[in-house]
Amino acid sequence: MPILRVALDLPLPRLFDYAAAEASPSDVGRRIAVPFGRRTLVGVIIEIAAESALAPERLRPAGPILDDMPALPAEWLAVARFASEYYQRPLGEVIHAALPTRLRRPLPLRLPPAAYALTDAGRAAVLPARAKAKRAALDLLGDGPQPASALPPAALRALVRDGLAAPAEAARPAPRFVEEHALTPAQVAAVSAITTAPAGYQAYLLAGVTGSGKTEVYLHCIARALASERQALVLVPEINLTPQMRDEFARRFPGARVVTLTSAVAANERAEAWLAAQSGAAQIVLGTRLAVFAPLPALGLVVVDEEQDASFKQQDGVRYSARDLAVYRAHAAGVPVVLGSATPSLESWTHARSGRYRLLELKARARPGSRLPDVRLVDSRVDPPVEGLSATLAEALAARLARHEQSLVFLNRRGYAPVLACGGCGWIGGCTRCAAHLVLHTADRRLRCHHCGLEAAIPRHCPVCGNVDLAPFGRGTQRIEETLAARFPAARVLRIDSDSTRAKGRWEAMRGAVHRGDADILVGTQILAKGHDFPRVTLVGVLNADAALAAADYRAPERLFAQLYQVAGRAGRAAAPGEVLVQTRYPDHPLYQALVRHEFAPFAEALAAERRQAGFPPFVHEAVLRADSARLGDALGFLGRALAAAPARRDELSVFDPVPMSLARLAGRERAQLLVQSHSRRALQGFLAEWSQALYAMRTGEVRWHLDVDPIEF
Ligand SMILES: [Zn+2]
Ligand SMILES: [Zn+2]
Repeated sequence: MPILRVALDLPLPRLFDYAAAEASPSDVGRRIAVPFGRRTLVGVIIEIAAESALAPERLRPAGPILDDMPALPAEWLAVARFASEYYQRPLGEVIHAALPTRLRRPLPLRLPPAAYALTDAGRAAVLPARAKAKRAALDLLGDGPQPASALPPAALRALVRDGLAAPAEAARPAPRFVEEHALTPAQVAAVSAITTAPAGYQAYLLAGVTGSGKTEVYLHCIARALASERQALVLVPEINLTPQMRDEFARRFPGARVVTLTSAVAANERAEAWLAAQSGAAQIVLGTRLAVFAPLPALGLVVVDEEQDASFKQQDGVRYSARDLAVYRAHAAGVPVVLGSATPSLESWTHARSGRYRLLELKARARPGSRLPDVRLVDSRVDPPVEGLSATLAEALAARLARHEQSLVFLNRRGYAPVLACGGCGWIGGCTRCAAHLVLHTADRRLRCHHCGLEAAIPRHCPVCGNVDLAPFGRGTQRIEETLAARFPAARVLRIDSDSTRAKGRWEAMRGAVHRGDADILVGTQILAKGHDFPRVTLVGVLNADAALAAADYRAPERLFAQLYQVAGRAGRAAAPGEVLVQTRYPDHPLYQALVRHEFAPFAEALAAERRQAGFPPFVHEAVLRADSARLGDALGFLGRALAAAPARRDELSVFDPVPMSLARLAGRERAQLLVQSHSRRALQGFLAEWSQALYAMRTGEVRWHLDVDPIEF
């Protein structure tokens, strides 16, 4: 009787044996339902063995093998295995995190046909169809079969009911590439460096100033991959960037099947996209970090846009870096990977400097006549802000309004004010579950914790002394929105942050309004900074960036520079020249000076020198063991025992003492951590592999723990 070794989503670093009536090697990679305790879990068959170490009476019979989809291919399982070993998480947890939710259930898939095409009646109906929605749906179906996901479900149902559309079995036309712009010489050089290189793995760092046309370089490289019948994987840092990119791909690659994998995609559609990737039917797979796990049998190119972005690092569960896994996948598949950024991460920059990655630079904007914006520093000591706005910025805003141009005011703090305080006794509204203040939100009149989500009503009087004069301190986007509306009553002010864009469809609606010119002043957080093209914006004002200069995290300057550079890049993307005004008390700070000169390289070199000197990444490799508990003593106690259980051989390693985390209390849990560093990745990996075995064997009580390899937050 064959034994199935199954990976299950359990915090145990091993596979689980089940007896099967029959199984063949082709079942490896298939999903299977198995009993576990009283539950039924869905797992993936990793091995088929002749015998088990378990006593026969303890071996339970497996449930049905789910043969509703092809087995996960060996290359895919190898990627999952690598992630499991590198990030020190059980294989079953990695596989579970990688699979779309629909495939994690112990039920066979029942997906509707993936693609629809016009019937003859539908073709005849294209012109006469009067109903606007139906007409639009018919237009979307166009000349070839289209994925069901390309159509509003109600419209599709109506077309099928009326016999105008039917599931398509016909072959799609070969994808074409529409060349729209003549490339600049720098773009030509970048494209040709990538497309004429010998076949095989190579990582490229495409460092291009904002507006330099990195996307156009990606498109040409993707065109080359598609022409040789290969698939392209494109990762972007933020869900909000996918519709824009998807539209661009659809327009420039008619006939190509583009699928999107993000957490916002509906469960069935995501499963459908996954299967289209796995079958090779999808030529372009676009998505956020989770898309790095898409099965891609004909992978020909990997692109990671804004590779420096922290959102590529998963911060809970399996803590992987999608950027790093993307490079691994390209390496494993023997294909090129393009990492694009205006402000590369110090990691990638260092690899490019050492020759490990090939550096390709785009130093000028691509659009004829468009140049980099003028960045000016407004000295807050000389021109003190009133209600957050300096006189210089207020005048510049007024001038844009008079010329009917758009402005963007950037403040990376949402809510109305970060603190509500009592002027009488000094009471400050704090979160009862975190070591953090509650943020005042006036839009829905709540106090809210930005760490754990706790909400409270705004008190009418001070809970300590009864004083009714509670005052907001500091300012967030809501307060600036209010100030701008009062200062410029005729202006249409649009606030764009994660509060205002939370409801489904809001972001799309706002983006449309901005593009149509239905807003004069945009106020927003870093949501606005990332990769969006707002051609009407000619002025960017930056408020309160100094706060980030004071942060203790050694990565803060790198992030602040990237963020300011990005947001500054929103100004003057079209023909009108852009201006950026940064309000600061420290106009001589090297970070601001580098921003004024648009000089990334010298800034990066200076940061790299500091990190090398101080022994920080990327010049050392790190992992942290974190623990949390209701009591700090318990978390620290666990880490102490973990340290005692660590392998004795620590050549080339530094293992530090347990300490409380900087935000020590989060959501009612006290948190502590222990740092391990090494100049040798191999030594660190060897240590972690041995140590994690010991950790899984430890009794933890109610302490929760995890390892974070290559952590980016402390
Ligand atoms: Zn008080
Ligand atoms: Zn909280």
